[in-house]
Amino acid sequence: MQCQTCAFFHAPKSQCRRYAPQPQAENSGATAVWPTVAVDDWCGEYRAKDATKAA
Ligand code: SF4
Repeated sequence: MQCQTCAFFHAPKSQCRRYAPQPQAENSGATAVWPTVAVDDWCGEYRAKDATKAA
């Protein structure tokens, strides 16, 4: 159970896309970003890639 095998992992940018991008403050304003994760991270929202194909 790791991000690298999770259905919500966006490998090209190593992002978790389980939820919509979240606001993040910047120097002169704000932007919205997906969280960056490591391939060997994990969380309780994990869903195997194959599980979403079967749903
Ligand atoms: S395991 Fe959690 S943090 Fe990692 S990609 Fe999946 S939903 Fe995101």
